[in-house]
Amino acid sequence: MADRVRTYPGTRTPALHQGHGKRNCVKVLERLSAYLDDELSGDVCQEIRAHLGDCPNCEVFLDSLRQTVQLCRNRPSPALSKNDRANLRRQILKAAATA
Ligand SMILES: [Zn+2]
Repeated sequence: MADRVRTYPGTRTPALHQGHGKRNCVKVLERLSAYLDDELSGDVCQEIRAHLGDCPNCEVFLDSLRQTVQLCRNRPSPALSKNDRANLRRQILKAAATA
């Protein structure tokens, strides 16, 4: 009936420095499209930037994403439609899945 709960005192890992864990990338990638739309708070932007500086994978992806968005914005048609955004988000999630 010993109720030994083992705790690990040293397991507090700073979120941004656990290497390039997939989970972290997914989290960042999920926010990237909002980041491009400037819908994120400064805090989250900083978090993303920090991760990007640390993770070439995501940086490259953001770069191509940014180009895509700019191409859309430079068109005479109204900015990204709901469909475009959905598409981009799907691309992001796909990239996250293979990261
Ligand atoms: Zn990453």
